[in-house]
This record gives sequence, structure tokens and C-alpha cells, in this order.
Amino acid sequence: MLLKGQPVADKIKADIIHAVEEYKKAGETPKIAILRVGAREDDIAYEERVLKNCRTVGIETEVVALDLNIDMESFIKELNRLNQDVNTHGILIFRPLPAHLDTEEISRAISPQKDIDCMSPVHIEKVFTGDSDGIAPCTPEAVIEILKFYDFDLQGKNVTVVNRSMVLGKPLAMLFLAENATVTICHSKTRDLNEVTKRADIVVTGVGRGKYFGPDYFSKDSIVIDVGINFAGGKLCGDVDFDKVSGQVSAISPVPGGVGTVTSMILLSHVIKAMKLQKK
Ligand code: NAP
Repeated sequence: MLLKGQPVADKIKADIIHAVEEYKKAGETPKIAILRVGAREDDIAYEERVLKNCRTVGIETEVVALDLNIDMESFIKELNRLNQDVNTHGILIFRPLPAHLDTEEISRAISPQKDIDCMSPVHIEKVFTGDSDGIAPCTPEAVIEILKFYDFDLQGKNVTVVNRSMVLGKPLAMLFLAENATVTICHSKTRDLNEVTKRADIVVTGVGRGKYFGPDYFSKDSIVIDVGINFAGGKLCGDVDFDKVSGQVSAISPVPGGVGTVTSMILLSHVIKAMKLQKK
């Protein structure tokens, strides 16, 4: 079974469009402000994707492009302006920020009610305490949404996540726990990794190594979610060697066209969730 991201993204998109229409009927237009420092090529490319996606669902946008050398005081002033602006419902700060800016302090300064990218420690705490008001990081949420969309029951399942970063493995483990799955987190020091992954019902890979996982990491019943984004021979590929593995497992998400497709729509859904939090 091929776990394509597009149908999942389309469903989330339809829900967003509906919510945006409802807000518009009530006289409010959801709006995301992007705070970008400098003009890194990957930031600009990401920004263009976010702006395009926002246009397709009717979310307004504001790009605040700040000078690469902006000091902390001026950055915080700009952030506070957006925190207080009643017409801005979501704030997205592009990271990594330049080293001279204090990311920790900025994480604490962003209004948790407008933080759509789980930067604030308030959301991280909520994700880790199982509070559904928390806005989770987009990629882990995308993994859960894919599995739910394709009707996999997570309760009691053995899940192995190969990644322990704060953008993926750790929050994802919490989201799986909230679904009553049994979770194992693996990393670069895990011994006999293929033995651990082979035993799991669901394996999530996010090591950032192109085609690293071959058929010996999985069983015929494995459900594989590949989060890796890598380039091999100029082509985008996942952490799993898709050509060798896809025929040997029960279900697998492709790269491209899998988790990444869903992640970008999850980000937009967070502005709707943020608006609900703001009304609470
Ligand atoms: P990261 O911080 O570098 O984390 C990589 C993780 O993989 C670490 O926990 C590392 O272990 C582990 N690892 C590395 N080599 C390993 C090996 N040989 N065996 C077992 N574990 C190994 O990267 P990240 O930011 O979490 O991102 C991970 C991947 O996901 C990247 O390919 C990234 O491009 C992709 N990604 C995709 C999306 C999406 O929307 N699809 C979003 C974000 C990231 P240690 O902790 O021991 O170093």
C-alpha cells in the first residue's frame, strides 16, 4: 500500500478552506505573518511555498523581511508588534536564526497563541504533557495524520521512531503515546537497529541519509513512514531505499510525495487552531 501524502493534504486543505470561509463570513480573515531575517536561498524558497499555499486556501499573509544584522531589541520590537496586532493570527519565524540573535529568548517572546510552528516552550510543554491545546511541530503531526487518514489503528501498536531530535523524534513519540501506541526511539548509538525496526508494527525513519534503510530493516507486515529528505545523484529521495523496500512491506510513504506534502498543509491548519485558542 502506497501512503501518498496528496490525498491527506487535500483533506486538510478542504477543512482549512471551510474554516477560512466561516471566519470570513464572520468578518475576520485569517492571516499569517512571516518573520524572515536576511534572504537565505532556502528561506526564500520556503517562503514562496508558504505564500502560494496560503493563497490557495484564502489565508492572508504579511512578510516581514528584516536586515541580516538586525539586533535583538529591534527584532523583539517587531515580534511584539505582530504579537499585539489583532489582524495577525499566526506568526512563523524562519529558523535557524543568525547566531547573534538569541533563539531561546525569541522562543519565549513569541505569543503562544500565535505560534504556529511550535517554537514556544508553552507548546512544547503541552505536547509533552498530552494537552491537546498544544500546537505540535508540523512534521510529527503530519506523520500521525497520514496514519490516521489511511485508517491505521495506533492503539497498542509497537512504533519505532529512528530520530531523537526536537523537530521530529521526541515530539512524535509523545503524539504516538497520546494515541496509546508503545514507542521506541532509536538514534545513531542504537545497537542492532535492524532488529529493533523489524520487530515494530510501524517504523518512522528520519536519519537524513539517502536510501539508508534496505529490506533487512523491515518485515513483510511493516508500515513505513519515511520522513527523510535527501538528495542522491541530484534526485530527491527518502531514508528508505524505496525501490528495494516497497514490494517487501505492508505499507510505505514515498519521497517525494509523502510526509513533506502533508507537513506544509499542517502548518496552515495551525493558524485555524491558533484562532480558536485566541478566542478561548
Ligand atoms: P537531525 O537533528 O540531524 O536528526 C537525525 C537523527 O537521526 C538523530 O537522532 C540521529 O541520531 C539519527 N541518526 C543519524 N544517523 C543514524 C543512523 N545511522 N542510525 C540511527 N540513527 C541515526 O535531523 P532532523 O532535523 O531531525 O531531520 C531528520 C530528517 O528529516 C532529515 O532528512 C530532514 O531533512 C527530514 N525532515 C523532513 C521534514 C518533512 O516535512 N518531511 C521535516 C523536517 C525534517 P543522534 O541523535 O544520535 O545523532
